[in-house]
Amino acid sequence: MSATEPLEVWIDQDLCTGDGICAQYAPEVFELDIDGLAYVKGADEELRQQPGESVPVPLTVLQDVVDSAKECPGDCIHVRRVSDRVEVYGPDAE
Ligand code: SF4
Repeated sequence: MSATEPLEVWIDQDLCTGDGICAQYAPEVFELDIDGLAYVKGADEELRQQPGESVPVPLTVLQDVVDSAKECPGDCIHVRRVSDRVEVYGPDAE
């Protein structure tokens, strides 16, 4: 995979434990809402709350997002290529 290939990330809130690890690792992309679950947010700071909604992964925080997906206790952070929607980090990655 090319390091510059555009990626996007989404969270399966059904499995989120609300521990907040992702929001600690990459607060630019992840935030806990008042319902106690984590959501992704875009450059506009708006949380994406529709199921499966994704945001682009900024290259500047790519490693933090990847680490979040690896450490996520709920195994519910999915990072995929924009071009073909293939998961590259997360529970469904090969
Ligand atoms: S790390 Fe995973 S389980 Fe924990 S708050 Fe973030 S999305 Fe939810």
